[in-house]
Amino acid sequence: MTARILVVDDIPANVKLLEVRLLAEYFDVVTATNGADALEICENGKVDVVLLDVMMPELDGFEVCRRIKADPLTSHIPVVMITALDQVSDRIRGLEAGADDFLTKPVNDLQLMTRVRSLVRLKMLTDELRLRASTTRNIGIEELLSRKAPESDSIAKVLLIDEQQASGARVKKLLRGTADLDVVKDPQEGFFQAAEEPYECVIVSTNFVDFDPLRLCSQIRSLDRTRFLPIMLIANEGEDDRIIRGLELGINDYVTRPIDQQELTARLRTQVRRKRYNDHLRASVTQTIEMAVTDALTGLHNRRYLDSHLQTLFDRAMARRRPLSLMITDLDRFKSVNDTFGHDVGDEVLREFARRLRKNVRGIDLACRFGGEEFVVVMPDTDAEIAEKVAERVRAEIADMPFVVGGKKIPITVSVGVSSLKRGTDSVTDLMKRADLALYEAKTGGRNRVVAKAA
Ligand code: GH3
Ligand code: MG
Ligand code: MG
Repeated sequence: MTARILVVDDIPANVKLLEVRLLAEYFDVVTATNGADALEICENGKVDVVLLDVMMPELDGFEVCRRIKADPLTSHIPVVMITALDQVSDRIRGLEAGADDFLTKPVNDLQLMTRVRSLVRLKMLTDELRLRASTTRNIGIEELLSRKAPESDSIAKVLLIDEQQASGARVKKLLRGTADLDVVKDPQEGFFQAAEEPYECVIVSTNFVDFDPLRLCSQIRSLDRTRFLPIMLIANEGEDDRIIRGLELGINDYVTRPIDQQELTARLRTQVRRKRYNDHLRASVTQTIEMAVTDALTGLHNRRYLDSHLQTLFDRAMARRRPLSLMITDLDRFKSVNDTFGHDVGDEVLREFARRLRKNVRGIDLACRFGGEEFVVVMPDTDAEIAEKVAERVRAEIADMPFVVGGKKIPITVSVGVSSLKRGTDSVTDLMKRADLALYEAKTGGRNRVVAKAA
């Protein structure tokens, strides 16, 4: 895992100290000795994590952090504030400035490496999602993100797995006001519950009498449904080896006993905030992909989707010597529906038509709105004879039952052209052309009818 860490401190000796330790772990290190330089590096360079000293002349660490978090270009970069020992007020100010984590001076090696690694891992996940979001963008990802920003600091739904009742109760008390906490004593029960309920973080206490807590962590990590669920460990002093193994297994953070309430709360908030941000990105990616291939009015696939998939279905049918048919439907005299009842009623008719169409084809058939009042259904594994029957069923379903919109009964009919794959020199274009020709014949032949062109 190579990642670039920016170290910011106004005292060169402090910079050097951190730099040497990070280089020894094969991180790529850049440095700055003042806030302005740090901001510029963040904007221009690829920075994965910022280690930021609080006490600096001019721009202090809080202000630098605030600016990093306020700029959409840099707000996703994790910031670790380095505060003087036991400066509780500094930690609070740091969190208010948007810091993701904090370390106290003198910086403990294990803490430094584990925090940095865990933030780097989160950052890489976020980067991947941001990249996917921007490459699949049809409408801007920033727009999608700003449309509904994830709620960052509302009460988090959290599961604590802790075998010891007293310890569980203590943690529950510490997290009052921060988390809606469920406590489970049995690890297997906890695992199932983590998979069932929409938790935003799982906290595993290491103090089992007869069970390896890391086994539980690795189970949670490997299950699909909980793969992105943050895991925190509550460990005992002296469990450094276990913590290191846990981090290698993919736990996200840890605290050690005796638990500092403020630290636990801050770390939990960070995990939850990250998860919400990433969930939001993931949902945006999915939504962008769906929007790009879906017709907004009817919810059917759109023409772009048809264009990209018809060739695939065609090639597959050819290669496997399987039949394939296609129908084009066109509503009859639809212009007059609009003219008589208005465009909104016309839209509702199109929606209802799409519903009836979908109801009469199979799940594996590809139903698309081709444009306007024309729809295309591609039917894999369907020969001409069956395709004609399906088309006739659709025609009857439309003609036999008037559409009811706004209390008005509107009689609607549809004309359908059907074509089927020919062995030999057939092509997607020819298949579409034959269906179009058939549709034309259905129209000129009197409408409300099906014409099939097998060859
Ligand atoms: P024909 O039987 O020959 O198909 O007659 P038609 O009136 O259906 O044919 P034409 O192609 O002349 O008109 C199609 C109409 O469909 C024109 C347009 O107003 C309407 N239309 C296309 N898209 C939409 C839409 O999204 N909503 C509504 N309400 N109407 C639409
Ligand atoms: Mg038309
Ligand atoms: Mg029409």
